[in-house]
Amino acid sequence: MMKTHDCDLLVVGSGAGGMAAAVTAKLHGLDVLVVEKEAVYGGTTARSGGWLWIPANPLAAREGIADSKEAARTYLQHEAGNHFDAERVDAFLQNGPQMVDFFESKTAVKFVLGPQFSDYHPDAPGALAGGRSICAEPFDGNELGDNIKTLRPPLKEITFVGMMIGSGKELLHFFNVTRSVVSAAYVAKLLVKYMRDVTLHGRAMRLTNGNALAGRLAKSAFDLGIPLWLEAPAQELLRENGAVTGAVIGTKDGPVRVNARKGVVLATGGFPHDIERRKQLYPHAPTGQEHWSPTPSSNTGDGIKLARPLGAHTADELPNAAAWVPVSRVPWSDGSFGTFPHFIDRAKPGVIAVTRTGRRFVNEGNCYHDFCQALVQATKGQSGEICAWLICDHPTLRRYGLGHVKPFPVPIAHQLKNGYLKRGRTLSELAQACGIDPQAFGHTVAEYNRHAVRGEDPEFHKGSTAYNRYLGDPTVKPNPCIAPVQTGPFYAVQVVIGDLGSFAGLKTDAQARVLGENGQPVPGLYAAGNDMASIMGGNYPGGGITLGPAMTFGYIAARHAAGIAT
Ligand SMILES: Cc1cc2nc3c(=O)[nH]c(=O)nc-3n(C[C@H](O)[C@H](O)[C@H](O)COP(=O)(O)OP(=O)(O)OC[C@H]3O[C@@H](n4cnc5c(N)ncnc54)[C@H](O)[C@@H]3O)c2cc1C
Repeated sequence: MMKTHDCDLLVVGSGAGGMAAAVTAKLHGLDVLVVEKEAVYGGTTARSGGWLWIPANPLAAREGIADSKEAARTYLQHEAGNHFDAERVDAFLQNGPQMVDFFESKTAVKFVLGPQFSDYHPDAPGALAGGRSICAEPFDGNELGDNIKTLRPPLKEITFVGMMIGSGKELLHFFNVTRSVVSAAYVAKLLVKYMRDVTLHGRAMRLTNGNALAGRLAKSAFDLGIPLWLEAPAQELLRENGAVTGAVIGTKDGPVRVNARKGVVLATGGFPHDIERRKQLYPHAPTGQEHWSPTPSSNTGDGIKLARPLGAHTADELPNAAAWVPVSRVPWSDGSFGTFPHFIDRAKPGVIAVTRTGRRFVNEGNCYHDFCQALVQATKGQSGEICAWLICDHPTLRRYGLGHVKPFPVPIAHQLKNGYLKRGRTLSELAQACGIDPQAFGHTVAEYNRHAVRGEDPEFHKGSTAYNRYLGDPTVKPNPCIAPVQTGPFYAVQVVIGDLGSFAGLKTDAQARVLGENGQPVPGLYAAGNDMASIMGGNYPGGGITLGPAMTFGYIAARHAAGIAT
């Protein structure tokens, strides 16, 4: 006979959506179990930037930043267009700030404000040039005790030789390491601590960004005594009279029947590695393979597959099925490839992007999601892989780095050797090395440079928005995002399309209940995180628009399961 386990709420998946639900439910008196498919917990969340987009959040209010739910609603309505879902957006705007208060006052989860982290479309109605994005505060991994060993490590490609670098001020210190004694001392101190941690613990113990968020959520769960089963995938939902009453969980000792009196929260992180859904929904990936995702390979759309037999539907009508990000493929010495997401480098002065036609196609400083949409548009009808090259000259490369290539004094020889970084003494030589049309490319750069010397970009207006400028270099005047590409040798890194997580998840209501046949909620079945259809209408309004709703709807689902309707 199959073993059984009883609880009030079963949470499937240990990322931000699942852990927020688990911690909230426990604090509302429910007996909770979290199951995780992998041998490590934290999901994509542990690899992420750890930013949450929460309009009118309490941290901004404390800093005196003026914001309102009404303004945010206007912005989201504008962003989502025909896909605006008023009920769920209102639930998010109402509960988001409460969720932040709840976690900050009752758990180990703490945040810091990004006061200058602008919304991604800051000129749209209701947008704000800073104050809606909050990040997990760095966290000491020692607080997790032995459980640090099973926290998913950060994405290797965005660390510095394994060391996590926090966003904002910390990153600035790294950029300025050869220019400021204060920055050099700051970085040296972090490196010394990192080396000590590696010697003692085999990993970085100063957790930042998404690793800090996953670590803080896990610490909160462990402190409350919530059990977390690893290597325990949910395989099938249990039903009684139309309601979900638990699930069959695979374990090393065989399947276990978990009975959950208040229901199940699906939080398996969406479908970034479900090839069939990619094939169906990603316009740039006709076979599902032409896509590179830095998310964990365990995110194969299990939540959606579990819910389908109950009549659940997915939001396949969204104009973008996932949060796109340009990525480069990093060759590692063992022959494997890593995936580097390009968040910041595109906005730096002296960096432009061209397709193989040699032409620019977008304001390179725009958000990753918009960059990729413009790339797909610009390469329509062209044969070959959908890709672009980020281009810069020698001083720019050594000042800011490019993708996985780090700024001076980190050497670049190995990246030239393994082909990640292309180099040409002249623009024409670089174009030939990349397979770019050399003539058109020469013309593009000449035309760009003609205006760049004055800090202008009449064609694509790079540096024109608060978001562009936030990621630029404030010391470069008059435009922090524009400098000429003129002093050889010249360099290029190829980028292709990847994602940060999927958008086209399960249709849910404002209580995070999964909708079944006839659009009615399935009793006892909730979805949070990327298992739930995004409320952003396929758009990407600001930094943290997946983690903010993930934690908020996890919180809402748990409270509903505990009998508190919001
Ligand atoms: C490099 C990077 C940076 C990012 N930065 C940000 C950011 O700063 N802000 C932001 O909002 N978003 C960011 N994102 C996106 C964000 O990380 C994800 O959207 C978010 O973490 C998804 O959370 P989740 O809880 O839905 O899923 P995850 O965090 O992916 O967790 C899902 C978990 O479920 C497990 N699972 C899968 N199937 C099963 C099963 N059958 N049974 C049990 N467990 C299962 C998985 O193994 C995984 O551990 C970033 C993504 C990347 C890759």
